[in-house]
Amino acid sequence: TITTDDRSLAFARRLATTPAPEQRRENILADPGFGSHFTDHMVAIDWTEEAGWHDARLQPYGPIALQPASAVLHYGQEVFEGLKAYRHDDGSIWTFRPEKNAERLRSSARRLALPELGTADFLASLSELVVADRHWVPAGAERSLYLRPFIIANETFIGVRPAHAASYFVIASPAGPYFESGVRPVSIWISTEHARTARGGTGDAKCGGNYAASLLPQQEAMRNGCAQVLFADAETGTRVDEAGSMNLFAVTRDGALITPAASGSILEGITRDSVIQLARDQQIRVDERDVFVDELCDGLATGEITEIFATGTAAAITPIGQLKSPAGSWGSVDAATGPVTRALRDELTGIQHGRVEDRHGWLYRL
Ligand code: PMP
Repeated sequence: TITTDDRSLAFARRLATTPAPEQRRENILADPGFGSHFTDHMVAIDWTEEAGWHDARLQPYGPIALQPASAVLHYGQEVFEGLKAYRHDDGSIWTFRPEKNAERLRSSARRLALPELGTADFLASLSELVVADRHWVPAGAERSLYLRPFIIANETFIGVRPAHAASYFVIASPAGPYFESGVRPVSIWISTEHARTARGGTGDAKCGGNYAASLLPQQEAMRNGCAQVLFADAETGTRVDEAGSMNLFAVTRDGALITPAASGSILEGITRDSVIQLARDQQIRVDERDVFVDELCDGLATGEITEIFATGTAAAITPIGQLKSPAGSWGSVDAATGPVTRALRDELTGIQHGRVEDRHGWLYRL
């Protein structure tokens, strides 16, 4: 296990002189929505080729000054992470498997030719921010503080080559229930025209460019009444990769789980990994293999597929009632959330919120 003793950076602390007044914060926490309110502080760490990571600091949340020629603005050399802090009933604050996010940020950074930050420093950066802004962590089921670490290329140079300077930041945003009126099945849109990534591309890295490429199909999905896009593989368009920001699972008639194998073109979700483990703990078979788009559509029609769900930090587990494409629609959003989906969701969110025993030691106290 990694302890703070492995940290190589010491954080300077400059606290906000004008934090949000308590009443304003309480109003936001009563109805935080997602992603539009930010806490009083942020973490910043600079990197240069000569000095490595340096000048780690906690500072007031606010605008960052970039030169118009800063590399990130031109070639999208950027990677990020997403994880949550949960307030347990005794007031303590925990995050979930953050060392996996640290590892994934490093592997994304490698792919984007950005510098890698060590796990202990990553964990310390989260603690610095969450301890300073602990009053911003909402209490209650389905509520959390979303943490967004990211690294940008930050050299003032517009030649096409890896930047010699970069910056790491962590910002935090309180998050309310993803499903306003309880967990309900959603529709997803099968994108037949656009792919998210291709073999050798950046599909298994969490970089901004992947999301930029997903926005037009996402717009198409929303126009068709769908919450997210299901992307198929770029070569054949027949194999399921993942949704725009979630991994996909299906339950087969014989009670097994199937999910696309981590082939290099999907982002290996930490929720995905956790769901696989929790299912196997209950002797549910999990097959990581090719999953075909037709297999899901036909399976919903014939009953061969009994449940479909998506996994990701934002909503934990989202039931999918319906698949839609220009060719038709399969299933229905009026169906109730399936029993396997419901049980896995209750267990996972129970662990995260401290209400179910954490048998795997996944929680990390901030
Ligand atoms: N796939 C994509 C493309 C994502 O953006 C995310 C969200 N990070 C996921 C899957 C799910 O990953 P995680 O469970 O780690 O949130």
